[in-house]
Amino acid sequence: MSDCLFCKIVAKEVPADIVLEAGRALAFRDINPQAPTHVLVVPKAHHENAAALAAADDGLADDLLKACHAVAVQEGVADTGYRVVLNTGPGAGQTVFHVHAHVIGGRSLTWPPG
Ligand code: 5GP
Repeated sequence: MSDCLFCKIVAKEVPADIVLEAGRALAFRDINPQAPTHVLVVPKAHHENAAALAAADDGLADDLLKACHAVAVQEGVADTGYRVVLNTGPGAGQTVFHVHAHVIGGRSLTWPPG
């Protein structure tokens, strides 16, 4: 999508601190990190949110989850614990409408989230 920020990051038209490129997924650091590790993992293909990604039913959601774990391993937070968050819809805090998983770790995390 031409007006999508994360499509532009995938296309390298907007700079980002890319930490992993894994097949159909791309991972880059969040511009406003909420923890020592805060990486966004996106499918390169545009899907608006987690529901649209699930409906695509082409294994892409699987790829995304595997890329999240690969990021956690690479960032050194896989053993201590990390969180994967997909805010889905404005009511859940989604602000960029290209599905993305937040991989958050490197500090102790409380539950429930705010
Ligand atoms: P959401 O609120 O949609 O779940 O998450 C969107 C995330 O994208 C936010 O955590 C925000 O900090 C991050 N973000 C917004 N604009 C940019 C940008 O231009 N570059 C990067 N790397 N992250 C961004």
